Amino acid sequence: MTLLTPDICVIGAGSGGLSVAAAAAAFGVPVVLVERGKMGGDCLNYGCVPSKALIAAGKQAHLMQGGAAFGIAPAEAEVNFRQVMKHVEATIAAIAPNDSVERFTALGVQVIQEEARFKDGRTVIAGDYEIRARRFVIATGSSPLVPPIQGVDDVPYLTNETIFSQTRRPAHLIVVGGGPIGMELAQAHRRLGSEVTVVEALAALGKDDPELTAFALRNIRSEGVNVLEHTKVTQVEKRGRSGVRVHVEDTDGTRSIDGSHLLIAAGRTPNTASLELDRAGIQHDRRGIKVSDKLRTSNRRVYAIGDVAGGLQFTHVAGYHAGLVIRALLFRLPAREDRNIIPWATYTDPEIAHVGLNEEEARKSHRKISILRWPYCENDRAQAERKTEGLIKLVTDRKGRILGASIAGANAGEMINFWALAISRKLGVRDIAGYVSPYPTMTEIGKRAAITYFTETTRKPLVRAVVRFLRRFG
Ligand SMILES: Cc1cc2nc3c(=O)[nH]c(=O)nc-3n(C[C@H](O)[C@H](O)[C@H](O)COP(=O)(O)OP(=O)(O)OC[C@H]3O[C@@H](n4cnc5c(N)ncnc54)[C@H](O)[C@@H]3O)c2cc1C
Repeated sequence: MTLLTPDICVIGAGSGGLSVAAAAAAFGVPVVLVERGKMGGDCLNYGCVPSKALIAAGKQAHLMQGGAAFGIAPAEAEVNFRQVMKHVEATIAAIAPNDSVERFTALGVQVIQEEARFKDGRTVIAGDYEIRARRFVIATGSSPLVPPIQGVDDVPYLTNETIFSQTRRPAHLIVVGGGPIGMELAQAHRRLGSEVTVVEALAALGKDDPELTAFALRNIRSEGVNVLEHTKVTQVEKRGRSGVRVHVEDTDGTRSIDGSHLLIAAGRTPNTASLELDRAGIQHDRRGIKVSDKLRTSNRRVYAIGDVAGGLQFTHVAGYHAGLVIRALLFRLPAREDRNIIPWATYTDPEIAHVGLNEEEARKSHRKISILRWPYCENDRAQAERKTEGLIKLVTDRKGRILGASIAGANAGEMINFWALAISRKLGVRDIAGYVSPYPTMTEIGKRAAITYFTETTRKPLVRAVVRFLRRFG
């Protein structure tokens, strides 16, 4: 055994772990990074990057068929699925050097490519190394959760860890789970020529406001994805040589669906099993490692960040956590997680994005709120681009401070950046109404929604309110 005594030992080289290691090394702090699988973790290898590359290919195929409205004859896209997957591979390969062992070693990080486990409250074992660090950061991420469906162990199924290495297009992909991962992959596969059925036990895209998800669901269904909501998978079995039969149950009774491939996208489970957390006195449950709002675990030497910490599971959250831990460890600055400022986006077409409180949450925590809406169809750029399906919905307090923003529509994932800044800086509708937005841009939709605060809150006739407003800001 070789004994190492760095200042910081990071376990997991995904979005969170890499950020901690890079920042620590940049400030000259001795750091050891332990990774048991691929550098870059889920996001680079099995998550954000391959899924967005696949979505981009699907979008390209879809665009070719959608030219008629612009006066351009639609063309049937000839999809070469093997080549599509080469594009996915090439996208990963283009980004991989940023996360590589070589780069991190050059930055001054000691990278150990082994599985880590705790020996006791202050020691980690990784291969032939015994690591006694001043502080540990656990960033081991999460894995696909496979629900205990009858027969699931006897059928071949795909998860996010295997679907991006398929080289043949699934004839009929059955997706278990209608969350963001399931719906993004369902739409992308449909656009690339697969028949797709999604089975969701509750409401599809159920974590977002139904007023907004309705736009995405309507479009996804209109493209031919069969989305079954409030439908439970009761059993799966093999069909023929490589196919699958999925038995489902809804309020009308039971039936079965035959497909060529099964994708399980039914949630995530934290990667804690191999860490032997109990030896280190680190409390955890099935949701993940228990952390304080400073991301400290029940062992004061150990922090946990990203997916394994059981909160919102996104790459930017892991990065945000990494920043907080670095502040605390390197600079002893107060660093508390503020979940309210964290945005998220689902990259279906149209996209759905959100930050802050939604209407329901705001009603619980505030006595009086305003809901401000503006539709995409009232935006000139959206008209020119024929992207008129969508809506922005703002939630403000009594004084007009922005509490939350939700967008469904083209570029929602880009536009939510603006609102994430507005909420983190505690801006109000007056700030939004007072800035100048270039014309014609879709971001103007948000400004128009904010302006409705003035017309909605005044009892005077609408015209007078508009005139008064234009005097002030026009
Ligand atoms: C299909 C899909 C699409 C997604 N799309 C998006 C998106 O568009 N935007 C977004 O923000 N998020 C997206 N996510 C979520 C995002 O991938 C995760 O939130 C993010 O990767 C979490 O980062 P992390 O650092 O916590 O964990 P990870 O990136 O998963 O890294 C954890 C690392 O720890 C390693 N590890 C685990 N246990 C040990 C051990 N005992 N010893 C050593 N190493 C260990 C693992 O091998 C892994 O490399 C997506 C996820 C999926 C599955």
